[in-house]
Amino acid sequence: LLQVRGLVKNFGTNRVLDGVDLEVRRGEVLVLIGPSGSGKTTVLRCLNALETPEAGVVDFDGGPTIDFAGKVGKSDRAAMRDRSAMVFQHHNLFPHLTVLQNVIEGPVQAHGVPKAEAAARAEALLDRVGLTEKRDAYPSELSGGQQQRVGIVRALALQPDLLLFDEPTSALDPELVGEVLKVLRGLADEGWTMVIVTHELGFAREVADEVLFFDEGVIVERGAPEVLFTAPKKERTRRFLDRLL
Ligand code: ATP
Repeated sequence: LLQVRGLVKNFGTNRVLDGVDLEVRRGEVLVLIGPSGSGKTTVLRCLNALETPEAGVVDFDGGPTIDFAGKVGKSDRAAMRDRSAMVFQHHNLFPHLTVLQNVIEGPVQAHGVPKAEAAARAEALLDRVGLTEKRDAYPSELSGGQQQRVGIVRALALQPDLLLFDEPTSALDPELVGEVLKVLRGLADEGWTMVIVTHELGFAREVADEVLFFDEGVIVERGAPEVLFTAPKKERTRRFLDRLL
């Protein structure tokens, strides 16, 4: 579905991504792990065109293919955003809109889907994550876990090919983490293609087809979770896992 080659991103003099290559196949779940500041979030933001890398190629099957060494215009960024949807650490729901309005906003505004159709689709999605009763509530009336589930539904409503999750549970109280992970497991089972940044290694182990370990802007090691978590080849990976497991 997606190939990324040689992604480089600087913030001022700070090189945050230093040549990242990755591939996502349709239906695959990729999990990005690594210490704070290693560049995981920045990768997701580059894929969703929220950041513009200095160099690298992002190539979606069926387009767009963008070479960031050249000139990248608004339409390139829009084409990238059409292929993926991002779920943030803090759900970023609009506080003045109800749950249903939050979910239909993207399809209606960005994709021109008729309101009734968007609403019907939104209701089906809300039902799937157990939030039918909350459709007319405002975000402030929901628990953190419910807000995050709405955030996920909002991304699904855009019908993207690729879902990007940036630490979707790290802002939640521990007792609310489970309900959000359950939704993610369900999406993985349904065959959604996902790239997930998470510190939940147990969860990563369950759902990931491939785990990528980042440190200082490069992918130090990658592999199937059962291999990478139990027999990492690189010392840096081992040290990171020792601290967490
Ligand atoms: P975390 O797990 O803490 O989210 P991360 O691996 O996702 O870490 P990034 O958020 O991608 O790391 O950040 C990588 C580096 O880029 C950090 O050193 C961070 O300070 C820097 N950085 C990120 N965004 C910006 C920005 N907008 N301006 C300047 N520096 C930034």
